[in-house]
Amino acid sequence: MERKSRRSFLGAAGAAFGSAFGLQGLSAAVQANSSPYRRPKLKITDVRTAEVRVHGHQTHVRIYTDQGIFGEGEATDAADGASAIIQRRFRRMLIGQDPLNIDFLFERMRTGGIFAGAQGGQYVTALTGIEIALWDLAGKATGLPVYQLLGGKMRDKVRMYCDSARHEPNTPAAEEMLSWIRDEGFTAVKIDCDDRNNPHRHDPVNWTASNREIDYMVERVGYVRNFFDRDIDLAVDGHGRFDVPSGRRLAKEFEQFELMFFEEPVPAENVKAMRDVREITTTPICCGENRFLRHGFTDLFEANAVDVIMPDIQKCGGLLESRKIADAAHSYYIPFAPHCVVSPIGTMASAHVCAAVPNFLALEWHWIRDLDIWKNFVQEGEIFSKGWIEMPDRPGIGVTMNEEAAKSRQVPGTPWFEEWKY
Ligand code: MG
Repeated sequence: MERKSRRSFLGAAGAAFGSAFGLQGLSAAVQANSSPYRRPKLKITDVRTAEVRVHGHQTHVRIYTDQGIFGEGEATDAADGASAIIQRRFRRMLIGQDPLNIDFLFERMRTGGIFAGAQGGQYVTALTGIEIALWDLAGKATGLPVYQLLGGKMRDKVRMYCDSARHEPNTPAAEEMLSWIRDEGFTAVKIDCDDRNNPHRHDPVNWTASNREIDYMVERVGYVRNFFDRDIDLAVDGHGRFDVPSGRRLAKEFEQFELMFFEEPVPAENVKAMRDVREITTTPICCGENRFLRHGFTDLFEANAVDVIMPDIQKCGGLLESRKIADAAHSYYIPFAPHCVVSPIGTMASAHVCAAVPNFLALEWHWIRDLDIWKNFVQEGEIFSKGWIEMPDRPGIGVTMNEEAAKSRQVPGTPWFEEWKY
């Protein structure tokens, strides 16, 4: 029996289609479509931004290509002025480049700014929006979800925690919000303990806590702790307000509540002060939303200053940078619980990192007071269920902006993915 070789098959195909396309052209097309080394060839053609204000300020970044696909990223908190940095500096560095060389482009933009503030703040946050858009683009170009490009999934769903700020104990408003959180199925909650209007404060600037001020905070944390069953974890945020003596007293007082973590009892800039709080308490100390890049976290690890880290993935350097930070933390056996105050686009981008790293603990969600815009911000609608995000198989980040809803929160006077005039 005659066996057809690949060569004879191509020969037969060539005979059939040769008159229309030419043998050489057909052979090249078959080769191009069967090669295991086939990869998309793309060039960046433009970079544009849009700014919204929901929980703080968010800058959305789109990177366009010559193949019609674009990637979308989001930056926040240090995002005031991010559009100007992107348009005046990063755009010209990106146009004409292959968007799949993400780490190369990131390093080029970072090191290109070492005399322009590339160690933190707005510079890194603007770079973060670009980095996340490049990952979305890479996923769309290769047909893979971003977690696959970050090393693959450790878990199919990502645990969220709900940040609900402050609560006045035993009030209808507090009961209503905390009941909603419980009924939604969240397994972890965060509240604030610092309160500028605490009636026992003695000074409008200094945050040294008085006895009564501490009692006031302990009562509020105790109320929320007692509201939930023990299987719902509780975290408390100090927003880096207090000095070391007050931070230490609060951390000791909070030991009775067995917190998931106490976040930034003292400012984040001085890692030794953070360590001074940590070393006298069994309350786990968390820090990170105001640190940038790997370098900002290395200091925390080397100083033994933290039990939990919470990089803001839309601020500290982006998806791969956060993966590197999480991996460094893992070598110190420190869990990773990212700060997150962004739209479903940024939240889902963060979830891809959380799905991919071994030491993930929980991901923040902070739009509880903006439910309407939260549910409508992307075309896919609500992205979590019962306090968990089920990771999508769609290419890229896996959600698409609902322009009409998002634009309703546009920062007045800013472009909406239009060409910059300056
Ligand atoms: Mg915080």
